[in-house]
Amino acid sequence: MKFIFKKSIYKNLFFSMLGFGMFIGIIFPPFAKIMLGTEKALSFSFFILCICAGLIVGGFNYFLFNIVVSKQLSRLTNGMQEIINRSKDTSTIFSECDSFSLTIDSDDNIGRLANYFNEMSSAVCNRIHIESHLKNISSKIAKTIEITEMAKIILEDIIHLSKSNIGALYGLQGEKMHLLAIIGIDKSEEIPSTIDKSYGAVYLALNTNQIIDITIDESGFSWVKFSTPFGTLKPGRIKIIPFSIESRVIAVAFLTSPNVQISEINKQLIESIRLNTSHYLNNAILHNRIKMLAAIDELTQLLNRRFGIKRLNEEFSRSIRHGIPLSVIMLDIDYFKQINDNFGHETGDEVLTCVAKNLEKGLRASDVVCRYGGEEFLIIVPGAGISEAGKIADRIRLNIEKLHIKIGDREFKITVSCGVATWPGSKSSNGLELISDADRALYFAKNHGRNQVVLFNGATFQKFG
Ligand code: GH3
Ligand code: MG
Ligand code: MG
Repeated sequence: MKFIFKKSIYKNLFFSMLGFGMFIGIIFPPFAKIMLGTEKALSFSFFILCICAGLIVGGFNYFLFNIVVSKQLSRLTNGMQEIINRSKDTSTIFSECDSFSLTIDSDDNIGRLANYFNEMSSAVCNRIHIESHLKNISSKIAKTIEITEMAKIILEDIIHLSKSNIGALYGLQGEKMHLLAIIGIDKSEEIPSTIDKSYGAVYLALNTNQIIDITIDESGFSWVKFSTPFGTLKPGRIKIIPFSIESRVIAVAFLTSPNVQISEINKQLIESIRLNTSHYLNNAILHNRIKMLAAIDELTQLLNRRFGIKRLNEEFSRSIRHGIPLSVIMLDIDYFKQINDNFGHETGDEVLTCVAKNLEKGLRASDVVCRYGGEEFLIIVPGAGISEAGKIADRIRLNIEKLHIKIGDREFKITVSCGVATWPGSKSSNGLELISDADRALYFAKNHGRNQVVLFNGATFQKFG
């Protein structure tokens, strides 16, 4: 729609008022003659006087109009100018939506115009705010291709916007959802590293591709609880936010939903973020998958030796930086050669795969299992001291001991031996030295009866339990 103002309304108004004043000045003397009955009313000087008075009133009217109406219109035009400047400014990131609103002090056309202006200003400012916010988060996530880093940035943002304080983001792969990031939870073992995509109300979010806000009991996540310095907390509601590309869901965020109302603009922001960051997320998930293919051992689907050592060295640096302990467990299957020798290599492979699958049970999401070589595994336990790592190792040993591994019509019972070493107890200064200490403990376990856990504190060996 286009309005064309060819003439100056103000100029027209000015001349109209003067003209009208002059017209009144001209027709007033004959009226005055009739009303007052005096010939003086038709005198030349009275004519001039009336015309002057008409012109003065006309001019004064114009002056009053300028003061009353024009001032109001100036407020509108200045506000509009500011909005135009803002919408043209693509470099500034507006952190909040501070729209320009005019005080409405009349219920006439000007008042209605101001009212529409306020609505338009608020809609435009919301749009600018959303675009600014999206630009900000896009520029942050565009700087990384690492899925965990990107997931954290997105999760942090939607947690902030939804006034939540706890959340987890999962990536979808096949029938499972894999944990990409968690925020607000101290103990990562409280949150599962994988969730079935048909679990609880997840299927609802996946099928409808809509944000779902649901009570914790309806959601199927009634087990969700969080440790805080004030004790264990249980959220009342949970928000499930799907991220999708062309209606194919690629990731799902879970947030605890607080009882406070979140603003309409924040709701729109969350919706925009989930719709606009999905492509970035998908690229990072694919990149991660390709990276993982190079890092994964084909038989056991665990991290391979090269990437296990890389991961350990990263954890080692982190531990030194933050002064937190780091433990490693070296685990080796006892008398594995006999299985190969007696039942063939293929049966050996199946036993190995079954053990590998069971190693992760009872570990925390932050723990890492890798196939170090043959039938030997490396387990990295960040944050655990020697006795905690000993407990974890013994729990794994007992789990494996209890297994009934069925292959065809045969059943196998196997045991494992473990060696545990911990930084800073061990004098190691890098990951490989820590592995070498754990290896020495493993050797000790093998030489002292197998099916046991041995701890090495840097000086002596000690059987756990
Ligand atoms: P120990 O209790 O001392 O560990 O005895 P062991 O028999 O387990 O140890 P040893 O080192 O003598 O034998 C390990 C065997 O593991 C030798 C090798 O054939 C077998 N092995 C290594 N990698 C694989 C694999 O990928 N598949 C199968 N089936 N066997 C493997
Ligand atoms: Mg062995
Ligand atoms: Mg071995």
